[in-house]
Amino acid sequence: MPGKVVMVLCDGLGDEIARRRMGYMEHLVEESAATRYTSRAVLPTMSRPNYESLHTGVPPYRHGKTSNHASEPSNQPNVFAATRAAGLTTAAVAFHWFSELYHESPFDPIAHLEYDDGKNGITYGRFYQHHAQPDSEMILRGVLLAGRYRPDYLLVHPMGIDNAGHDHGVASTEYAQAVSDIDELLADAVPRWLGLGYSVLVTADHGHDEHKYHGGTEDGVRNVPIYAVPRDGSGRGVQPELLSHLQVAPTICKELGVAVPATMKASPFVW
Ligand SMILES: [Zn+2]
Repeated sequence: MPGKVVMVLCDGLGDEIARRRMGYMEHLVEESAATRYTSRAVLPTMSRPNYESLHTGVPPYRHGKTSNHASEPSNQPNVFAATRAAGLTTAAVAFHWFSELYHESPFDPIAHLEYDDGKNGITYGRFYQHHAQPDSEMILRGVLLAGRYRPDYLLVHPMGIDNAGHDHGVASTEYAQAVSDIDELLADAVPRWLGLGYSVLVTADHGHDEHKYHGGTEDGVRNVPIYAVPRDGSGRGVQPELLSHLQVAPTICKELGVAVPATMKASPFVW
């Protein structure tokens, strides 16, 4: 049965730290109320290339967002545009690069700070421009938008884990604490989204390495978790299958009941 989807894109969250520190999300997996996969980020393991691949199902050499500096709007069929084309609504609480990709570029720091009548891919937008935003504000805004506007697709994009990775490194107390903080926020937010009829995906664009960076090919930056929490509670626990980030966009379209664009060639995964 198709329905609404929230994707929580935890910037910089690696697979292993999630398994060790996300007690609430792993609880849902242990109880088979969620399905857990490991997914491979696209190369380079930078943010904007992965934001675009997660939403288009297309690799960077084809979609053209090959670095963080590629600030032009997306020129590919994507989750936001496909959802709007189906007559549904979308929302994003996210770093301003998402507004550039799916609303309009360049980003206007005042006019695009928030909008409720976006005519392009994003209907309801709330954007930040400085990396250091409290994750609690992002998650709470995501809960607020879901309850107020009931968008069919909602992206929530906290940056705290990535910040901690850049400032302190992947082995630091600060990085581990940022992961625990998100898990605690999700323990309050996920039941609320489920109660509003949403299925919830929690994943990341890339992980982090010991040099306080990402971009390369090692498993630590490439492997990230996918927690898929179906609204009906019918998860399947830990799955051994190694996914690709290119599978995420067609999976979301299918879950929304939106026609999967022909450019999204990878197979959807099972929630
Ligand atoms: Zn990132």
